[in-house]
Amino acid sequence: MNELQFPGLHGKVALVTGGARGIGAAACSALATGGASVVVTDVLDEEGEALAQAIRASGCRAVYMHLDVSDEGEWQKVVEQTAAELGGLDILVNNAGNVSLSGGVLQEKPEDWDNVIETQLNAVFLLSKLAARSMLERKGGKIINIGSMYSFFGSGLIPSYSAAKGAIIQLTKSMAIELAPHNIQVNAIAPGWIATDMTAPVRTMPLNDEILARTPAGRWGQPEELAGTAVYLASRASDFVTGTTIRVDGGYAIR
Ligand code: NDP
Repeated sequence: MNELQFPGLHGKVALVTGGARGIGAAACSALATGGASVVVTDVLDEEGEALAQAIRASGCRAVYMHLDVSDEGEWQKVVEQTAAELGGLDILVNNAGNVSLSGGVLQEKPEDWDNVIETQLNAVFLLSKLAARSMLERKGGKIINIGSMYSFFGSGLIPSYSAAKGAIIQLTKSMAIELAPHNIQVNAIAPGWIATDMTAPVRTMPLNDEILARTPAGRWGQPEELAGTAVYLASRASDFVTGTTIRVDGGYAIR
């Protein structure tokens, strides 16, 4: 059995943004279990430190670094610290996200729009740019962006979120074309409705019933259910897969 048939992540360094909880935390744990050294980053320092500690306690490798992805000053520092402590970067998971539940363009404040676009889109562009430089030196890498069902569908309630998540898919394709000759694959995961803190308010809204009715699986997903896709896209098993978006949605998008 060669490494390509059963590829692990041993020797790889992965950085996950917004990794302290939710989907990001599940990705951190799974990548570490797969063999990677994981840099958990977030603005939630206590939760992030605790997760890194728990990963280490399970015999895997993880460190925590503070990173507010909307603060340009922090990116270079974290990428440099990663290079200094772990030798470089092979895998970037652009997961950190926020949402402005504004109720639509008529209500949404321009500053809320800007905040969502900065966190959900601009940070992905700029952090990927920095990470790709490290990946070029290491002759390969994986960038995994987190999209959404709103990458495909409009939303009358959260227009900035939908705009950013739609753009993520196009940015994924564009970076994939540019970076493929350098053995860097860029893909996206589009989660369906996943039970996390971000979506907690939705579970008390009438929208919850619509979600359950439309999702063929008939339930919300759990963050851990995205982890296998993240590991696949981080591993050599996906070396000929680039520019694609994998839906993990219990079938939500098929009707
Ligand atoms: P959570 O709110 O549970 O986790 C997101 C994490 O990102 C939090 O720890 C949050 O911290 C952090 N974060 C927010 N802003 C920043 C920032 N500027 N810099 C660094 N970290 C930040 O959300 P999910 O796990 O649900 O979401 C993860 C990703 O998945 C997001 O991109 C989201 O849009 C996407 N997604 C989620 C879906 C779902 O159903 N849950 C569906 C589709 C996509 P804090 O809370 O303090 O802001």
